[in-house]
Amino acid sequence: MSTVNETLIREVVAEVLARLGGPASAMQGAKVGTATAGDSGGGGPAGSKTGGAPACGCPVSGSTGSKPVRGRYGVFADATEACAAAQEAFQQLSAAGVAGRQKVIRIVKDLCTAKAEEWGRLELEETRIGRLEHKIEKLRSLQGVPGVEFLQPYGLSGDHGITLEEYAPFGVIGAVTPSTHSIPTLACNIISMVAAGNAVVFNAHPGAYKCAVTAVRTFNQAIHRELGIENLACIVEPPTLESFQAIARNEHVRLLCVTGGPGVVKAAMASGKRAICAGPGNPPVLVDGTSDLDRAARCVIEGAAYDNNLLCIGEKEVFVLESHFDRFMAALERHGAVRLNEAQIERLTRAAFVFPQGQGAGCAHPTVNRELVGRDAAVLARAAGVDVPPGTQLLFGETPADHPFVLEEQMMPFLPVVRVRTVEEGIEAAKRAERGYKHSAMIHSLDVAHMTAMARALETTLFVKNGSCLAGLGNGGEGYLNFSIATTTGEGICNPRTFTRVRRCVMVDQLRIF
Ligand code: NAD
Repeated sequence: MSTVNETLIREVVAEVLARLGGPASAMQGAKVGTATAGDSGGGGPAGSKTGGAPACGCPVSGSTGSKPVRGRYGVFADATEACAAAQEAFQQLSAAGVAGRQKVIRIVKDLCTAKAEEWGRLELEETRIGRLEHKIEKLRSLQGVPGVEFLQPYGLSGDHGITLEEYAPFGVIGAVTPSTHSIPTLACNIISMVAAGNAVVFNAHPGAYKCAVTAVRTFNQAIHRELGIENLACIVEPPTLESFQAIARNEHVRLLCVTGGPGVVKAAMASGKRAICAGPGNPPVLVDGTSDLDRAARCVIEGAAYDNNLLCIGEKEVFVLESHFDRFMAALERHGAVRLNEAQIERLTRAAFVFPQGQGAGCAHPTVNRELVGRDAAVLARAAGVDVPPGTQLLFGETPADHPFVLEEQMMPFLPVVRVRTVEEGIEAAKRAERGYKHSAMIHSLDVAHMTAMARALETTLFVKNGSCLAGLGNGGEGYLNFSIATTTGEGICNPRTFTRVRRCVMVDQLRIF
């Protein structure tokens, strides 16, 4: 066998093994740890599961410096390998310039549009939550996510010369995505992060990672064909808490961005790295009767029923002034929502929440039964002991303000409606239901004093007046889209600037042209 042929054969074998997730990395000496016990490429020392960083916090020398394995297209069993591959891709993207970033964004958006039906179905089959038409719509809507145009530098010109503040990339970002919108959040993150010049490593939700892996592989294959960059968006397969820790600790990862509930926000904040946290919400709505009740009912149904109420910005509970209560309830019915009576709500509540025994010890909060999260209204209706007409999108009913459906972020297409005597009482109850998440709130009103009072009391990141929650993300209102809304850490609706470092460049006494 000639030397050339032998080399060629070695390369082919290495590539095939790499694609099969086999021990190709061992051949190249790149793999230092395993994300899971079942990873066939294992062989790393026991302590290397989480990236092998020593207790002193120093990087492991040589752990991330070797050349990443080829042919993975962003999909790695090992978090450390994924981070090393993303670091290499970050450098390649830097060389490709702004034009390169623009190409990547175009590729990601166009694939999301072209594959919206296929990927929407894939995500629904894997997660079994939400509604197909909305999964598809969310993927198509990604065309509206802003890109490099968001990065206009800030210039200063004066007696002492010229100064420019520019939005520079961080490098590699570690990102966590939720089960509620797996591919849409992932794609949104890629667009915003790459627009800012970064690469990214994802740890997806364990119940929604297979569809995310498919999307990541497809994006990278297309990016590789056009730009020669293979691992710009990496993902760990399968994701575990250990792989999250390994990403968070990795020396290449300069920033975290997590989208999810309280658990992941706490974990990201405790990581010691700067974290952008798009956390939980429980958005209340106030209806004071000064605006068109019919329109208010339509808007509330649109937002609360969207993807079976999986949106973090989605209407989760409504407070209505007593004098308009009956007319509002009738309007909800007119627009197709199905009303449950007290006994039916009671039955649904017992199915939808797990109540702590005795309520005396530990946490007295009921926890949401995840089996009913994001399920169709018909499934909830069956749990409530009712049959609803086919196509019913939303159930609703009257509850007190301290009902679990009001106080817990339930993400189900049942909307509790609470009667309040005054606007002040409504705002107070809405604030309590929002639980200080400072996420989203809606008001239907023509009274600017009521609008102002609610905005000031709740301090939410998004506040929509006279529209559905969707208007807050550019669907029916002015504004741009993103599926990561950084509530907890205050960056707001994420955009390319969110993922940049501001760097100032000063020219003393020269370059001013007058
Ligand atoms: P979840 O909190 O169960 O999971 C979110 C992600 O965090 C998943 O990838 C999960 O694996 C990971 N995770 C959870 N605990 C972790 C820990 N201790 N360490 C590391 N990773 C951890 O949430 P979900 O059910 O997937 O999504 C719904 C939640 O996300 C809701 O609370 C919703 O409001 C919130 N959400 C917020 C936004 C936003 O932009 N603010 C967007 C979508 C969803």
